[in-house]
Amino acid sequence: MSTTATQYKILIGGEFADAASGETMEVIAPATGETIAEVPRCGAEDVDRAVEAAQAAAPEWLEKTPKERSELLHKLADVMDEHAEELAQLESVNVGKPLMASRDEMPFSADNLRFFAGAARNLEGKSAGEYIEGYTSMIRREPIGIVGGICPWNYPLMMAVWKMGPALAAGNLQILKPSEQTPLSLLRFVQLAQEVIPPGVLQVVTGDGVPVGQRLVEHPAIGMVSITGDVETGKTIARTAADTLKRVHLELGGKAPMVIFDDADPKAVAEGIRLAGYWNSGQDCTAGSRVIAGPKIYDTLLEELVPQIESLKVGDPLSDETEMGSVISQDQQERILGFLERAKGATILTGGGTGSSNGGYWVQPTVVTDVKQEDEIVQREVFGPVVTVQKFADDDEAIRWANDVKYGLAASVWTRDVGRAMNAARKLQFGAVWVNDHLLPISSELPHGGYKQSGYGKDMSIYSMEEYTQLKHVAFKID
Ligand code: NAD
Repeated sequence: MSTTATQYKILIGGEFADAASGETMEVIAPATGETIAEVPRCGAEDVDRAVEAAQAAAPEWLEKTPKERSELLHKLADVMDEHAEELAQLESVNVGKPLMASRDEMPFSADNLRFFAGAARNLEGKSAGEYIEGYTSMIRREPIGIVGGICPWNYPLMMAVWKMGPALAAGNLQILKPSEQTPLSLLRFVQLAQEVIPPGVLQVVTGDGVPVGQRLVEHPAIGMVSITGDVETGKTIARTAADTLKRVHLELGGKAPMVIFDDADPKAVAEGIRLAGYWNSGQDCTAGSRVIAGPKIYDTLLEELVPQIESLKVGDPLSDETEMGSVISQDQQERILGFLERAKGATILTGGGTGSSNGGYWVQPTVVTDVKQEDEIVQREVFGPVVTVQKFADDDEAIRWANDVKYGLAASVWTRDVGRAMNAARKLQFGAVWVNDHLLPISSELPHGGYKQSGYGKDMSIYSMEEYTQLKHVAFKID
């Protein structure tokens, strides 16, 4: 245990508290490998305490008007804006991600809270009417009650906000669990927002997936759990949730293809891959990790791509110049390098190693060619700064390869031909398809979520708010 590590507490019932057991766990800065903080190592009993506090708060909170819920979300957004720089710095240190990225995430998160502040006042149902002779029917859209939110480590505060906005806007009470690796920004955010959060309405517990996340999924008084994480974690959660028939909202992994047709601009595509494949060290569920390029553009694209990737500024996350930081942990570093070691027959055009001996967990920006569609490195989410490039023979093969993975979160198509782009966008089995760009086109108004094993349920947009509500039909006999 480091003597300088900052001590954090969980938020239960409006109070900052330790775990019932008194146990703590260390939080590491992955860029240096140093321990930077300690947080409570919660157990199932801490989740139970949070549920009791939510139950105590529910009668008053459930009477709040949309306007009052909207005001809370506006105040949370204001707290985010006022402390954006502090939160961005904390996020950079805890995730090892460049400040330029964390600084983008805070205003986007504040905007997300403001979107849901507006949406809270605009939820609509079917108008009341006489659909059955002698009866007037109305549809009520009601909150689910107490909901759990289980967050990943790649965008810790932003993913928590993506859950918090729709849950609170719809009138629920929420218990959030950050990743055990990156709990600091959320804990600090609720500390800063303590004055505005009604006790028991928004709570945070920290600890491992098992037992803390598992208890959120098992608890019979929790009506829904939203998880952003790995596909296997999502499957475990869906199985566990079956026992209480709890609603689940699954935002899981991805393996996004970038389909590059021969008529695309190779320079623009190479710049696009530089961003899409390596942003957040490739630890992004929509990372453009599979480039599938046409036979005529393939060679030129590689010539453009390699210098682009070698020009990425990798280093200290807290430097304003840095474009790519470390990866999240030693385990993740070993996992990524393991994919490269096992990719027999593949050619590593650039990167492939750790590239740093200054402590911490690093992987060089890497480009891999000579891979086959069935290879592990093409089929499975690497979740690191590794992009594979394949050469397709014709449009049908391009679309077939793009779809031939278990994931379905995001894809992009690069072409100047509108008809070709339309056709590809229609055939690609992904929750988002971008044309001539990748990663950037996301906004609070637009849904984000997967097809296939990338999960179900949408984040952001009015569609996500619907997920956090349930419909009731009320019928009045009128004769
Ligand atoms: P992870 O699945 O390891 O962990 C996610 C969360 O689940 C953590 O808080 C963890 O403690 C918890 N958890 C683990 N086991 C659990 C269990 N049995 N019951 C309940 N909770 C449990 O994922 P990660 O490594 O933190 O995040 C990376 C993954 O998240 C990647 O696969 C990435 O693609 C995915 N992701 C998806 C989206 C999206 O919008 N679809 C966004 C960001 C990240």
